[in-house]
Amino acid sequence: MSLEDLQKIAPTSTDSADLKKYGKDWSMNFEANASAVVFPRSGEEVQQIVKWAIQSKTALVPSGGRTGLSSAATATEKEVVVSFEKMNAIIDFDPIDQVVTVQPGVITEDLHNFVEDKGYFFPIDLAAKGSCHIGGNVATNAGGLRVLRYGMMRDWVTGLKVVTGTGESLYLNKSLVKNATGYDFRNLFIGSEGTLGLITEVELRVTQKPALTRVTVLGLEELRHVTSVYQHFRQATQLSACEVFSEFAIQKVIDMHGLQRPFETRAPFYLLLETEHSQGEDESLLMEPFEACFAQGWISDGVISQSPLQAKSLWNLREFISESLSPLSPYRNDVSVRTSRIADFVVEIEEAYKQQYPDFEVAWFGHIGDGNLHIDILKPQSMDKTDFIKKCKQADHTLFSIVQKFEGSISAEHGVGLLKKDFLDRSRSTAEIQLMREIKKIFDPHHLMNPGKIFTIG
Ligand SMILES: Cc1cc2nc3c(=O)[nH]c(=O)nc-3n(C[C@H](O)[C@H](O)[C@H](O)COP(=O)(O)OP(=O)(O)OC[C@H]3O[C@@H](n4cnc5c(N)ncnc54)[C@H](O)[C@@H]3O)c2cc1C
Repeated sequence: MSLEDLQKIAPTSTDSADLKKYGKDWSMNFEANASAVVFPRSGEEVQQIVKWAIQSKTALVPSGGRTGLSSAATATEKEVVVSFEKMNAIIDFDPIDQVVTVQPGVITEDLHNFVEDKGYFFPIDLAAKGSCHIGGNVATNAGGLRVLRYGMMRDWVTGLKVVTGTGESLYLNKSLVKNATGYDFRNLFIGSEGTLGLITEVELRVTQKPALTRVTVLGLEELRHVTSVYQHFRQATQLSACEVFSEFAIQKVIDMHGLQRPFETRAPFYLLLETEHSQGEDESLLMEPFEACFAQGWISDGVISQSPLQAKSLWNLREFISESLSPLSPYRNDVSVRTSRIADFVVEIEEAYKQQYPDFEVAWFGHIGDGNLHIDILKPQSMDKTDFIKKCKQADHTLFSIVQKFEGSISAEHGVGLLKKDFLDRSRSTAEIQLMREIKKIFDPHHLMNPGKIFTIG
């Protein structure tokens, strides 16, 4: 079985520009080294590709929108990349089930627009929505901006069609609301980063759009007060998002995009809260927690959006952060703990970094209402890239020891991929990792489905 046989199944490219482009994701840590890129157009073609891979003993790397930040969609060992770019059809919408059926290559924002035109709402929303695919969102169990209210991707997937590493096609859960028939393989595939097989069709639940949302941005004096402020607002309002970002991060967004500051007063940190309201409800509901937090000296200033346009521009301050930091070659971490522990967790990391790495410039931001913090360390211009990464890897030991102490996760939502696999044992026990290996062997006995990602088979 040769590359020519693969070309007979679906369009295939070995062009060096394509190998470079499709061979890696958004993370910059590994170089692409793919042997070919294949573009299936249907589930049947995907199945034939897997059978070809088994016969030719070729490893496959599934690839969605390539916005992943953990090098999970990166081919470093001459694998064949399977790009789902051409499988981008919205197949069906059932208004009774309120279920939409899509091919995995549908761009997340296109799904949002489709569903909105039908009068519904799909709440998984992330800054990469203009490029990432639904298949990639499923394979990473994407989170994003409204997890606090609506949960992760897992909570919205009602059915999945997959091709396993044995070449078998499975239709999982079939969008049943109730299905008590043993193990739920659908949930095994969600978040599996392409290591068990390839997702060929996704069925998703949709919901009603909230009547009215408001965005409030608050100036926060110290990061350790974040939980107290969150608690006051959560008790008084229907919070749908609670995001934090530092003055350092917001300044980078303002520099790159020319956006306005939320208000004149500068604060070391900012908290962005999105709240849901019924029609006609005014903003007075937000004033009570605001005044209580202001009286405590936890917040220094604030603004409440007065129009959808203003809400959007306040959201932009948060959503543009990753993109604005990218030119500074950030070393990214995405960790989480229980929300109740986030303040103590942050204080401990800040102190450890200050003591051990005083020259680090760190941009702090994240989905703080979910206990999820993004920590981007920026490369000093004068420092060589290799030295910088080496130093950051040393710092990872410090960070992940603190994560382990707080019983947190080394990857809240970006996945493990190649980037974090050496630290998997800080969040998962030896027994759990061994069980994952055994499960992979059942679904992928030839070890061809995105090998080397999450863990090494041993
Ligand atoms: C600016 C920016 C902001 C981001 N914000 C967030 C955020 O708020 N929350 C969040 O969770 N993530 C975030 N991310 C990370 C990323 O967008 C998500 O992980 C997203 O779900 C990846 O989707 P993708 O289509 O780009 O997948 P890719 O990067 O292409 O792939 C990701 C993984 O999915 C696998 N995969 C892709 N398609 C399939 C398929 N059909 N079958 C099997 N496996 C498949 C790949 O092999 C890989 O393991 C952000 C990234 C960027 C660049």
